[in-house]
Amino acid sequence: MPRSAEAMVSDELSEATQHMPADHDSGSVSGSRPMSVLFVASEVAPYRKTGGLADVIGALPRALKARGVDVRVVTPLYAGMAWDQQERLDGLLAVPMYSGLMRAGVRLGHLPGSDVPIYFIEHHRFFDRPFLYGPPGDAYLDNLERFAFFSRASMELCKAVGFIPDILHAHDWQAALVPVYSNTVEWGQPLHGAASVFTIHNLAYQGVHEAGAMFITGLGQEHFNSQEFEHFGDVNLMKAALRHSTMLSTVSPTYCSEIQMPEFGFGLDGVLSSRHGDLWGILNGIDTTEWNPETDAHLAARYGVTSMAGKAECKAALQRELGLPVAPNVPLFGIIGRLTHQKGFDVLAQCLPRLLDWNIQMVLLGTGDADAEAFFADCARQRGDRFRAVIGFDNALAHRIEAGSDLFVMPSRFEPCGLNQMYSLRYGTVPIVRKTGGLADTVLNYDESRGTGTGFCFDDLTPDSLTNTIGWALSTYHDRPEHFRNLQLQGMQQDFSWDRAAAAYQSLYREAYRRRRGHEFPG
Ligand code: ADP
Repeated sequence: MPRSAEAMVSDELSEATQHMPADHDSGSVSGSRPMSVLFVASEVAPYRKTGGLADVIGALPRALKARGVDVRVVTPLYAGMAWDQQERLDGLLAVPMYSGLMRAGVRLGHLPGSDVPIYFIEHHRFFDRPFLYGPPGDAYLDNLERFAFFSRASMELCKAVGFIPDILHAHDWQAALVPVYSNTVEWGQPLHGAASVFTIHNLAYQGVHEAGAMFITGLGQEHFNSQEFEHFGDVNLMKAALRHSTMLSTVSPTYCSEIQMPEFGFGLDGVLSSRHGDLWGILNGIDTTEWNPETDAHLAARYGVTSMAGKAECKAALQRELGLPVAPNVPLFGIIGRLTHQKGFDVLAQCLPRLLDWNIQMVLLGTGDADAEAFFADCARQRGDRFRAVIGFDNALAHRIEAGSDLFVMPSRFEPCGLNQMYSLRYGTVPIVRKTGGLADTVLNYDESRGTGTGFCFDDLTPDSLTNTIGWALSTYHDRPEHFRNLQLQGMQQDFSWDRAAAAYQSLYREAYRRRRGHEFPG
C-alpha cells in the first residue's frame, strides 16, 4: 500500500535531517565527503530531447559521478517515456502552489549505463502532452504553472528522499525558479544552505510571461521588482535566476563573453555583465560513447583515425539511402538542426541556388519553422539530383549523416555551444561554421599556408560570406586533398570528452559552495 503523501513527506523529512551533512548545521569543516549535486532540468537524453540541453543532462552527471560527485537528476515524466520501466516510489509529493497543495508522483530510474539516479516528476495534466513546451512555434499557455510546479516539486523531492544537496544545479528557464525558491520559500531551511548554480544553455529562451502572471510562481508581488523578476514590464524567470543564483555559467567561453554584450544579450546583457565575476563559460563535452565512429551501431561501417576506409563506405551507404548518385568524389555536405532563426538556415537558403550549380551533394535533416521546412522540401523536389531534405527528428539518421558527409555546415547567428560541429569533428567530417559562441571555441580555422586547422570559419553571416567559405572548402577538398585529410585527422583527435568539462564544473561547485557557506568545501 502506498503511504499517504503526508506520511511520506514527514517520514522522509526526518530521514533528510539524518542524512544532512554534518557541517550543514555546525559550520564544521572537518571530515571529507563527496560533494552532492541535484541537477534540475526539463529534458534529459535519451528520454526526451528537443536540443543540446538534453544531451548535456544525459552526459555531464555521468562524468561527474565518475569523478566522485554524488549527483542525481530530476526531470518531468513526459508522455512517450517508458514510465513503466521506472520504479514508482511510494506516496506522493505535496507541492505547495499558488492555488494550494498539488500532488506529484515520483518514479526512480538511472541514467542509462550508469548508477546516477534520475527522478521523474509525474503529473499527468502538466506533462502527459505531445510536446515538451508546446507545438512547433508555439508555447503552452500554462508553461509558467507547469515549470513552477516542476521546480517546486524538485525541492520537495529533496526533502522527501532525504537528499539535501550541497549544490542545486538548475538549467535554463524551466528550472529558473529553483535558485529563487532556495532563497525565499526555503529561507532558514536546510535547502537554503545549498548553493545554487544556474546554467544558461540558450539565452534566447527566458521564460517571459505577462506581469499579471507573477502570482503563479507562488511568490508575493514584492518579488516583482527590477532586481528580481520584473524585466521591461514582464515576468522574466531567467532574470530572477540570474539575480538569485550563487554562481552562473554558460556553455562556452566565447558565448560567455558575447552574452554580456547587447548584440547577443537578448536584453539581459546588463544583468549578466553586472554579475561578470560570477559567470563562467564551460565548454560542453560530447557523449563520446554514443558518438564514436569506431563503435557506432547506426553506421554501415566503422572507422577511426588509423582506418578511414569505413568512412567512404558510410558515404556510399548514405548516398544510396537518400537516393543520391553514389559518387565517391562528389563532396557531400551535411546539415542538421532546428530550423529556427538562430541557426542561420535562412542565409543558407539564399545561397542554395548558387551552391547547387556546383557539383556537390547536400543533405539537410531538421524540423522547425514551417516556412523553412516548406522551402527546403520544395528545393529537394526541384533539385533532387543534388539536394535532399529530411523534415523530421531522426537520431539514427543524424549519426549516418555525420559519418557519411565530407563536410558539415553550421551558419549559426549565435550558438551557445553547439554539439553537431563536435560530432562532425569526431567523425572526420570537416565543419564550416560561423565564428560565434561555441563554434569559435571548437573549430580551428584552416591555415592554407601550413595545412593546419580543423575546419572553415567565417565572420559575417551573409550569403556571400557563406558561399565563399563553402567555395573555399570545396577547392581545398579537390585541390589540396592532403590538407583536407589533415583537417579531418586533426579534428578527429580533439578531446571533447565530458571529463574535461566535469572537472571545470567541480571547480565551479566548490566556488559556489565557498560563497554560499563562507568556507571551503570539506572534501
Ligand atoms: P540546439 O541545442 O541549439 O538545438 P545543438 O547543436 O547544441 O543545438 O544540439 C542539437 C542536438 O539535437 C544535437 O544532438 C543534434 O544532433 C540534435 N538534432 C537537432 N535536430 C535534429 C534532427 N532533426 N534529427 C536528429 N537530431 C537532431
